[in-house]
Amino acid sequence: MDFITLEDVEREYRVGDNIIKAVDGVSFALAQGTFNVILGQSGAGKTTILNLLGGMDSPTSGTISVGGEEVSGMEERELTNYRRTKIGFVFQFYNLVPNLTALENVQLAEEVCRDPLDAQEMLDRVGLSKRMDNFPSQMSGGEQQRVSIARALAKNPQIVLCDEPTGALDSVTGRKVLKLIRDVAIDLGKTVVIVTHNAPIAEMAQTVIHMRDGKIAETETHEHPKDVE
Ligand code: ADP
Ligand code: ADP
Repeated sequence: MDFITLEDVEREYRVGDNIIKAVDGVSFALAQGTFNVILGQSGAGKTTILNLLGGMDSPTSGTISVGGEEVSGMEERELTNYRRTKIGFVFQFYNLVPNLTALENVQLAEEVCRDPLDAQEMLDRVGLSKRMDNFPSQMSGGEQQRVSIARALAKNPQIVLCDEPTGALDSVTGRKVLKLIRDVAIDLGKTVVIVTHNAPIAEMAQTVIHMRDGKIAETETHEHPKDVE
């Protein structure tokens, strides 16, 4: 069953007298509880797609629906609610609050959403039960990213959106973190969409959408995705 669908989505930006088509006629469908990658070079339109899926931006035309709700038709208030309750975000640079412990960072999720998952359990699932009282500065990059994954999941979102989640990590740590996102999120029934320019990451995905110049160049599906070691 399709959970996320985009139909002929366009996002144009006006820059001076020019119109830039950041996303130009994109359609795809992703099933619930799957791990998906949007792959492409810088400027391909990946971040714009992620912002559209996360309700941070709206399409110029076309339809986006998530779990049967039409996100592309929402007003600003509904979009805020959608971001708060339906979406977990994982960023390249973790975005943790420096003066809060790992546990307190994950507990922030409880303040914004209706039906949070247990913060301690989420930290346990990402292998950080012994680091709950550490501050971000006392943790490695990989550990900080695991905290941010726990925080994204603690919101109990429908979708987890990750923007270059391994971009600031060495490749071995990056792969471990990615496997963790995949295994923990899928176990919890979340649908994951990762945006990256890093091709090897794509081998771990069920669906890989290759973007070029705002368009889909190719869509690959892997029935049995690899664990990239
Ligand atoms: P990617 O994430 O693949 O690097 P983006 O989605 O960030 O690509 O950008 C796609 C295109 O849209 C690029 O040409 C970029 O310069 C342009 N773009 C993105 N955001 C804006 C904006 N706010 N204003 C103008 N142009 C933008
Ligand atoms: P508030 O206005 O109360 O800060 P927002 O709607 O801005 O609420 O944020 C709701 C959720 O969406 C938060 O979890 C936040 O991290 C996320 N969010 C909002 N804006 C962005 C953005 N531009 N990039 C990434 N995440 C965002």
